[in-house]
Amino acid sequence: MSYTKYLKEANFIGGEWVGADSGDTIDVTNPATGEVIGTVPACGDAETRRAIDAASAAFDGLAGMGLMERVGLLWKLHDALMDNQKTLAELLTVEMGKPMAESMGEIGIGAQYVRWFAEEVRRAKGEIVPAPTNGRRFLVTNHPVGVVGMITPWNFPSSMLARKIAPALAVGCTVVAKPATATPYSGLAWGALAEEVGYPKGAVNIVTGSARKIGGAIMDDPRVRKVTFTGSTEVGKELIRQSADTVKKVSMELGGNAPFLVFDDADIDAAVQGCMVSKFRNSGQTCVCANRIYVQDGVYDDFVAKLKTAVENLKVGDGREDGVEQGPLIDMDAVEKVEEFISDAKSKGGNVVTGGGRHGNGQSFFEPTIVTEATQDMKFAKEEIFGPLAPVFRFKDEDDAIAWANDTDFGLASYAYTRDVGRIFKLNEKLQYGMIGINSGLITTVEAPFGGVKESGLGKEGGSQGLADYLDVKYTAVDF
Ligand code: ADP
Repeated sequence: MSYTKYLKEANFIGGEWVGADSGDTIDVTNPATGEVIGTVPACGDAETRRAIDAASAAFDGLAGMGLMERVGLLWKLHDALMDNQKTLAELLTVEMGKPMAESMGEIGIGAQYVRWFAEEVRRAKGEIVPAPTNGRRFLVTNHPVGVVGMITPWNFPSSMLARKIAPALAVGCTVVAKPATATPYSGLAWGALAEEVGYPKGAVNIVTGSARKIGGAIMDDPRVRKVTFTGSTEVGKELIRQSADTVKKVSMELGGNAPFLVFDDADIDAAVQGCMVSKFRNSGQTCVCANRIYVQDGVYDDFVAKLKTAVENLKVGDGREDGVEQGPLIDMDAVEKVEEFISDAKSKGGNVVTGGGRHGNGQSFFEPTIVTEATQDMKFAKEEIFGPLAPVFRFKDEDDAIAWANDTDFGLASYAYTRDVGRIFKLNEKLQYGMIGINSGLITTVEAPFGGVKESGLGKEGGSQGLADYLDVKYTAVDF
């Protein structure tokens, strides 16, 4: 089946597929070919307010629905995702550029989030807290927060919505979502799937267009009780500020600057393999990508040699072609940003050992690149690269490596390869990160709380914590 089955060139508001009031549209481009694959409505505040009206009107119905009926809808949603996995994956690859294998994985993990929250919501228990005197009972109960606004990025256009939409619908919250302008179809597909499996009108609304206007309407409206955002720290900070006027609950999955530590005692082949997955997945465009690779002196040369071989074997191309492991970057701005990091590193003594430039495929393709002898004064030590550039730093002392790893405003993911059990527990204590992968470069899983500390964000997605983020806690005292 062709991906066009879910290519919706309209917005989903109150159960209807509609265009912008102005009739204006935005082109959506395939970054691998530069072709326009379709258009989406250029909506603004009026359309967003109507989506909030619809979500507000649908809230009592969804929140009041029997638990097993809500769970049943999630099962259907899970099955619809899996039955259409290839179609949805192709749509994702065409609008975003990532290889088909990664897109298949993304739709698959999205379905797993839906299944996880269908299971987890049945255990969203409250508490009865012992009272200090007889004749009293204290109940602590959980309740859906209300209408939830969701703003998502282009790097995981389907699964970033999965881990927001699934817990929201599980507990009975209704949704107004704004997908990234570069990748709106994977977001709109959630509207089509919700319609297909029979969600009530208004339970899920998807609006595309101006980020400022749609975001502004979501943030201003007192009926939106929670906002969940995945994207840059800069925009996240602005949304936190905007949330103050109506005191919304906020969940923020913001930028990262992940350190990847390789100690002398590590299994180097495993470390290289983990580094490849962590660094080059999605062409380096994930917020948990290894951004700074710190390798201990004794294994530095061996690690770099093996990493170079692995990087040079990566197959770059259109994500729809068989065997392709790295697609294009999202746009030319992303390419220029990577170029800037490389020239800054070169000017400060960095060595480009492979790659370093634009790829022969043209468009926004970029060569997988390694820079060695990276140092803390280079730009990528402080900023998120978001591209296929692996800077390798050299360290001698464990404490230096930990101090450098923590020397950032971010605190999302971190990784370390070592076989020393004592060191593993020390890293668990000392690394100022919301997530730590020990001997693993791929740690995202539906069962565990994904989220950062410091300026990487607030709140968790996945795990039991990912459901709690959509619940308000009420306390009721009963005297008898
Ligand atoms: P990225 O670099 O991943 O695109 P952004 O933070 O720029 O990160 O964008 C993430 C999402 O936030 C996108 O859907 C984008 O349209 C939206 N966005 C960007 N600026 C604003 C804003 N001022 N208000 C609300 N949403 C915004």
